[in-house]
Amino acid sequence: MSDHINELFDKDGNLIGALLSAEAWTTVKKPVLDTLGIVDNHAEPERPEPLADWETLKQYWDFPYPVDTDVACEHCGNSTQDWAKDDPRLFRLSSANLAGLVCFKCMKCQAKILKRHFKDEITTECTPFQSSKISSKEGRYSR
Ligand SMILES: [Zn+2]
Repeated sequence: MSDHINELFDKDGNLIGALLSAEAWTTVKKPVLDTLGIVDNHAEPERPEPLADWETLKQYWDFPYPVDTDVACEHCGNSTQDWAKDDPRLFRLSSANLAGLVCFKCMKCQAKILKRHFKDEITTECTPFQSSKISSKEGRYSR
């Protein structure tokens, strides 16, 4: 078929599976796992986005400017005009509270983006992702 896909047949000519090159597998792994409903155990479990908290914040929005939906990552340059409309998400909401503190995770580089809403301005803080394993040298490369 191609260098990337080898279909495997048994002696009777029945298809028993397919062998993908590393490159092909890396490219299609996520959609395949998603389609088949397989959870990749190596991926960190993601908490669902606290969208209800975001809705509450929008509902009680008392800042003198409209609700802002743009998010940008200073670390890798990822950006969006409306994070909630991205499918799949470029940024995942990780927390939102009534004080106007909204936190996102950059899906490209895992950096944490914190937006603070004040009366007259919005400040953004970008913290590059740090593996929790980095502090212990021993476990750094182990799973
Ligand atoms: Zn980023």
